[in-house]
Amino acid sequence: MAAKILSGKDFADAINAETRVEIERFREVHGRSPALTVVRVGNDPASDVYVNKKVKTAGELGMISHHHHVADTITTDELLQLIASLNDNPQVDGILVQLPLPKGIDERVVLESIDAKKDVDGFHPVNAGNLWLGHETLVPCTPAGVIEILKRAGIEIAGREAVIVGRSNIVGKPMAALLLTENATVTLAHSRTNDLASVTRRADILVAAVGRAAFITTEHIKEGAVVIDVGINRLEDNSLLSDVFSDDEIEKRAAAINSRGFTLIGDVNPRDAAEKASHFTPVPGGVGLLTVAMLMKNTVTAAKLRIQNL
Ligand code: NDP
Repeated sequence: MAAKILSGKDFADAINAETRVEIERFREVHGRSPALTVVRVGNDPASDVYVNKKVKTAGELGMISHHHHVADTITTDELLQLIASLNDNPQVDGILVQLPLPKGIDERVVLESIDAKKDVDGFHPVNAGNLWLGHETLVPCTPAGVIEILKRAGIEIAGREAVIVGRSNIVGKPMAALLLTENATVTLAHSRTNDLASVTRRADILVAAVGRAAFITTEHIKEGAVVIDVGINRLEDNSLLSDVFSDDEIEKRAAAINSRGFTLIGDVNPRDAAEKASHFTPVPGGVGLLTVAMLMKNTVTAAKLRIQNL
């Protein structure tokens, strides 16, 4: 059975179209567009790409967006002052601090300093707590995007076995909370899980958020499972290509490695998923595209919730 590929672009386009309408409505009612501010510290090249994509998409959807790019010599205190000024600014609806932060900056203190009502990444403990309590809140964008993919693809979640590999605060844990809210039976696996393959083979819905290239292979996948690949890894040499890609893909990927030094690959071996799963998300072109779309949606939600409560 060849798996159906769940293209992130189709879902992201649909969500962005809905968000554009919401932005227009917000502008009609409140006389201005929702506003997102992205704070980037230092010059991490991957962050550069992500921030540009977020700011560009916000503009395309008719949102106001600001980008504060500060040097990595900034201290935690200086960064806290910047965030405090954004918290106090009534024209700012959403604040996002791009991770990772340079060494020496206290990430936890910084994230906790963001006004929970403007925390469009959904990382603040108040939002994380609300999520587990099942209350309306700002939900981390990547796992929220996974739920959108499942629902929009018409995949049944309630009553099914969901296994998530990875228990980070930004992906694995909120993913578990969201799948639980959707009435899946949820297992959260991690690096200390015994006999991981026997756990993941129970999954009707398998979410991989590990951070290791092509880590999930045929032995981990139940026949007919829905496989969601959250991982984004750089593959820098050709040696793995023939183990993970189909023949027509190998040439394309080898050309990418030759020209820019890497190709992107997820946490799932795509060839194995294509053979064994009923549905799977590609990398690139899968979950990653939803992350930005959900950030835009979260910013509109934050703007609406805050204005209602002023
Ligand atoms: P983290 O490094 O924070 O977490 C990785 C998790 O994987 C940990 O819980 C770890 O377990 C677990 N893990 C590591 N090795 C194993 C193993 N051998 N067996 C089982 N579990 C293991 O990563 P993130 O959650 O931040 O990111 C995960 C992936 O998702 C990355 O590739 C990242 O680039 C990608 N990502 C993609 C996004 C998108 O927009 N598509 C957004 C965010 C992340 P333990 O806790 O025991 O150490």
